[in-house]
Amino acid sequence: MAAEPQKEWFEKDYYKTLGVNEKATAKDITKAYRKLARELHPDKNPGDAAAETRFKEVSAAYDVIGDEEKRKSYDEVRRLGPMAGGFGGPGGPGGPGGGFNVGFDDIGDLLGGLFGRGGRGGRGGPQQQSRAQAGADLEADLTLDFDDAVRGLETTITLTSEATCHTCSGTGSKPGSTPETCKVCNGKGVQDENQGLFSFSRPCASCGGRGAIITDPCTTCRGIGVEVRPRDVKVRIPAGVKEGQKIRLKGRGGPGRLGGPPGDLFVRIHVADHPLFGRSGNDLTIEVPITFAEAALGGTVKVPTLDGSPVTIRIPPGTASGKTFRLRGKAGAGDLLASVVVTVPDSLTDAQREAIEALAAASPDSPRAHLGV
Ligand SMILES: [Zn+2]
Ligand SMILES: [Zn+2]
Repeated sequence: MAAEPQKEWFEKDYYKTLGVNEKATAKDITKAYRKLARELHPDKNPGDAAAETRFKEVSAAYDVIGDEEKRKSYDEVRRLGPMAGGFGGPGGPGGPGGGFNVGFDDIGDLLGGLFGRGGRGGRGGPQQQSRAQAGADLEADLTLDFDDAVRGLETTITLTSEATCHTCSGTGSKPGSTPETCKVCNGKGVQDENQGLFSFSRPCASCGGRGAIITDPCTTCRGIGVEVRPRDVKVRIPAGVKEGQKIRLKGRGGPGRLGGPPGDLFVRIHVADHPLFGRSGNDLTIEVPITFAEAALGGTVKVPTLDGSPVTIRIPPGTASGKTFRLRGKAGAGDLLASVVVTVPDSLTDAQREAIEALAAASPDSPRAHLGV
């Protein structure tokens, strides 16, 4: 039903019929119509068949472009071809794929820009079968153990998102049925359009550039080749990933429509804290408490590593609290940065007190002499 008036729309120039410009205001159109209707009215031209035909044409033209909504659709059809305003195929209007997106924005804008036609309206109007469309980029979160983040690993994440339809493998056709070659473009997927001096190739409006029309749409995805379902995605996490880092998995995002390429999947990394280790760039950090005696006299101290086998560091005599020792290659791809911190006991035994008092007595020089107070 919808295809017939559209074919007529495509072929007839109602603006010309009313003698108005395509950019004419609604008021101008009504004015032009009233003037013509008065002139051509059968009461005024009894027996004039030509006038009667013209009168009917003028009425039909005004019926369409005199109505704001119809005019929008008419302009659309005139610009994009007779199939643009509806699905047009055997499914008829409202047939397969209620979710098709409008697909000709850029071309419409291009033509609009070149030829001074208005921008497109009626976005919410008649549905269109779109051309190929790239899939959406998706995001997923993944929380890693501290060790896994440092060392890297291969894991699987499950996400629920748009995915290639499992029934039709994304073809949109019911299994066993074959899409029909598009008769508008003869399967080429493009149409040539002449605009005065210019000639354009644009994606075929009838088949959306695929060259084929789905005659028997898949019932799972209603012909769009895409469904929402949970799916597993293998992720290779490189060693040394950090909190908030995004890993890009090319082509693992939303599936493309009508042969378009898939989007990418971005996995946002979260790293659980470790009770002992911290991160500093590619290096690991650890705080190593030492006694005043170890700091003053020097000694050897065992430091744990992430892989479990401890390393021994030698503290030279006179080591200041906070001094950092770099243990090369002891933290996966990076180094282990061990910072010694001199601890002060919060309670003392009698023996300790005596020893420290003896130390104080043997240390007459103030470490604050340089402050001058
Ligand atoms: Zn399907
Ligand atoms: Zn086509």
